Amino acid sequence: MQFVLEPLPYAKDALEPHLGAETLEYHYEKHHRGYLRKLQKAIEGTLLAERSLEDIVRASDGSTFNNAAQVWNHSFYWRCMRPRGGGKPNGALLKAVERDFGSFDEFRTKFLAAANAEFGSGWAWLGRSDDGALKVYATDDAENPLICDDTPLLTIDLWEHAYYLDYRNERERYVQTFFDHLIAWDFVAENLSRPDNPLRRTA
Ligand code: FE
Repeated sequence: MQFVLEPLPYAKDALEPHLGAETLEYHYEKHHRGYLRKLQKAIEGTLLAERSLEDIVRASDGSTFNNAAQVWNHSFYWRCMRPRGGGKPNGALLKAVERDFGSFDEFRTKFLAAANAEFGSGWAWLGRSDDGALKVYATDDAENPLICDDTPLLTIDLWEHAYYLDYRNERERYVQTFFDHLIAWDFVAENLSRPDNPLRRTA
């Protein structure tokens, strides 16, 4: 299977002033596309080449897992943002957040804390576990909610390449800006309404 990079859901300058066009140019064209190129090379001529991206994430390890998961994570991350995003969710998503975190503000505090506590490169997530409960946590490197069989609802890329051109060393300011001005709550709500985890292990 020849994977094609999903197009960005907006123009590269659409998230300014919060994330600049140069960040998206490098992050999407160099990093995201680079992971895809390495994945293609790793699976060429193997049985994995016939599988879906989700299957490869589920079935692989080492550098093949790292590149496959990074391709998946980035496609998901782009859709977690939108121009004039942020604010608060509503409807079933807000109710679920209030049920499991006490309040939206408490959820915000926990999400920011999980992201800020990630020591190195990684991702912070809002996930839904099998019993329907929402939870926040961070994962290292390329790992994603597949490792605990959760349904991913929201993510932020915490690798330096995601923010360094705009925020330099101020990762906390990037995390806060992402939460307050960039999150596409409609996409998060759509993920919550999905019955199944697209990455669920079948075995
Ligand atoms: Fe990235």
